[in-house]
Amino acid sequence: MIVTSSIQTLRAEIRAWKKSGETIAFVPTMGNLHDGHLSLVKKAQASADRTVVSLFVNPLQFGPNEDFARYPRTVEEDKKKLSNINNNLLFIPNVTDLIEEPIDSNTKVLVPNLSDVLCGASRPGHFYGVSTIVAKLFNLVQPDSAIFGQKDYQQVLIIKKMTRDLQFPIKIIVTPTHREADGLAMSSRNQYLTPEQRKIAPILWQTLEMLKREIKENSCIFNKITDKYKEILEKNGFNVDYLEIRTKKDLQPPTDTSKELVILAAAFLGRTRLIDNVFIN
Ligand code: AMP
Repeated sequence: MIVTSSIQTLRAEIRAWKKSGETIAFVPTMGNLHDGHLSLVKKAQASADRTVVSLFVNPLQFGPNEDFARYPRTVEEDKKKLSNINNNLLFIPNVTDLIEEPIDSNTKVLVPNLSDVLCGASRPGHFYGVSTIVAKLFNLVQPDSAIFGQKDYQQVLIIKKMTRDLQFPIKIIVTPTHREADGLAMSSRNQYLTPEQRKIAPILWQTLEMLKREIKENSCIFNKITDKYKEILEKNGFNVDYLEIRTKKDLQPPTDTSKELVILAAAFLGRTRLIDNVFIN
């Protein structure tokens, strides 16, 4: 596996692969890789001749009071995991190569509306940080496809919209959420949980699944029903940021005729913010 921080080296490798007609699949990450990330890389390997993973803890997507400084950084372990599954190139850009000071003078890529609701409402500026850096990475890697996890479903829709609007010739592939045995969605942030909180954490997904069953069994008034499930979460020790039923296509509040829905939630256990979602077809 080639490991590089150099944009020049990355570009030279990409050029060589493209010259010999090879296709490239790209997996952007913030590192601290778990099996969820590795499932994306495996999907990438099944989708193209070459795979590129990037590892960049993106300062633009963290708010001033968020966990940028303490976000887990495990570069050596990440390298081993990727090398073991035969990833072709690991790109670890330097912050100063992607973001010039002063930060506010940098070009922004902003996907309106979709970026302003749900996680975007609670984390102002978060998705602008994501879309700006993913756009830069798309320009650097120039992949044929890019793989993202359903776990961050709002992010998926934003990246798809950005890709269409900026006409990147890149196919966006979405893979299912990888879970622990008890249903908790794998996440780098799970390691912030105390043993007590870790025991409670799977209740987030279990609650979404219960709500999904209730919606499937009875047609019901959506906002009333979410209140009931918010209460269940609060009673179990979560501080609920949001629990919403939205259209799967564009995260709009559903109408009586909406068919494809997604239930999305964000909830805190202590200082740790967990997110999850399930589809209802
Ligand atoms: P992150 O490193 O958290 O920015 O995530 C990088 C990519 O991995 C994103 O596309 C995430 O949606 C995806 N991802 C994170 N956790 C999981 C998971 N449990 N299952 C599948 N994909 C995931």
